[in-house]
Amino acid sequence: MTEISKKRGFVYLIGAGPGDPGLITVKGRDCIGKADVILYDYLANEHLLTYAAPHAELIYAGKVGGVHNREQWQINELLVEKALEGKVVARLKGGDPFVFGRGGEECETLVASGIPFEIVPGVTAGIGAAAYAGIPLTHRDFTTSVAFVTGHENPGKEASDIDWERLSLGSGTVVFYMGIKNLPLIAQNLMAHGRSAETPVALIRWGTRPEQEVLVGTLADIADKARKAAFKAPAITVVGNVVTLRDKLRWFDNRPLFGKGVLVTRAADQAGEFSRLLAGYGAQVFECPTIRIVPPESFDGLDGAIASLPSFAWLIFTSCNAVSSFFTRLHDRGLDSRAIGPCRICAVGPKTAAALSTYGIIADLVPADYKAEGVIEAFRSLDMNGKRVLFPKADRARDLIPTELQKMGAEIEAPVAYRNVIPEALPSEALQALEERRIRCITFTSSSTAQNLAAMLGENRLLNLLEGVTIASIGPITSRTCRELGLPVDIEPPAYTLEALTGEIVRHFT
Ligand code: SAH
Repeated sequence: MTEISKKRGFVYLIGAGPGDPGLITVKGRDCIGKADVILYDYLANEHLLTYAAPHAELIYAGKVGGVHNREQWQINELLVEKALEGKVVARLKGGDPFVFGRGGEECETLVASGIPFEIVPGVTAGIGAAAYAGIPLTHRDFTTSVAFVTGHENPGKEASDIDWERLSLGSGTVVFYMGIKNLPLIAQNLMAHGRSAETPVALIRWGTRPEQEVLVGTLADIADKARKAAFKAPAITVVGNVVTLRDKLRWFDNRPLFGKGVLVTRAADQAGEFSRLLAGYGAQVFECPTIRIVPPESFDGLDGAIASLPSFAWLIFTSCNAVSSFFTRLHDRGLDSRAIGPCRICAVGPKTAAALSTYGIIADLVPADYKAEGVIEAFRSLDMNGKRVLFPKADRARDLIPTELQKMGAEIEAPVAYRNVIPEALPSEALQALEERRIRCITFTSSSTAQNLAAMLGENRLLNLLEGVTIASIGPITSRTCRELGLPVDIEPPAYTLEALTGEIVRHFT
């Protein structure tokens, strides 16, 4: 990349892509991270701002209540002003900056002011939205060309700059941007200049996003259909026989959880995997951590156990957090996995076993039933009399395992290895989605997630916000906690894994 001249500042004109934040380019993401100032648009997904440096100044240059809050000349001036202060400016624009984005004009201003810049292209809405609607813009059996056309121009004006004749003749696909308001006139013009009234048309609103809406019709009826459906901008209009391929190639907006808001209440550092599973089925996932994992108030108990590790016959882990907090402490004390020696290891389920394997350890025992009861059952067939057992646990863990193992004659030590605490606040995005009834399903993956949410919201607000929301719980213990809180459980998988829970949610909504 061009050497950045600190004195004169620098501007990156970046295409943010059509909406799905995964469609930003690698270079675009890097440039966002370098910027001191980010000037972003209405159509650029705000999620991309998470790549910004902590010190970056974020300026919204988009629409407020449907009208632009800054005129184009004001945006141009702001770009120049910030760059002249010596800042690195990222101008983040929806789609591609040079496709109907007025990026050309912004660039001309920079040239006039002698400000160095780079253009980072993006996936333009026409390409992105069509792909996510399952419409190939060209296809050998249908057409060999595609045109991107503004639909913003009033097609009724006396001398149109658009060559309607050429667009209408032949079989070329035509993609209109900003054309929803003018849809009746666009359709009329194409038909008047020779395109068949039967030509298929697709309107794609908020393409590539979980809110994507697609309306299909023909040149003859699409305007009427759009009016009846109150179809609104921002949307592109795809005209051409390729639209029929959607029936076969649709892949994004027909997934079982498409567009459904699902709330994930796990701790922030654990939510990712679950969120990805759900998003894979098209869910609009809102992460709303109700748990924060922190070290114990005192390490005395755990340290004492670590000092006498050779005396234990068994080590039991009932969560990935227990594994990571135990081994982190081991490492902090200058030890590694060898310190466990011949001690045998029990993991409550496959996830915990997988967490152990990252420390080079293969669990000796994984019960068939992935919960505390399953662990106890598994130990019943073993001779536990007089055996020392170490069970590093969470501060609020149930006493079931220690009590039952003691009954079998084992000598158990259960030091607190980590604590689950309640975060200070819920993310405003998740809360807003709940308030606006955009959440269809809430997931609880442990009793604490439900208890903490209740503690954070208060009983009345909890019941009120979750009214009509499908409640998915990972297993019977969590379900019992939910019911005690007054929350009826709708979904509980047969196995206590995230995959099984996701599977049951998909089944519920199919
Ligand atoms: N530079 C942008 C276009 C800006 S013009 C790009 O390359 O995509 C604004 C128009 O783009 C909107 O009116 C709409 O027609 C289209 N558009 C932008 N994002 C869109 C999306 N996610 N889905 C459908 N159309 C979109």
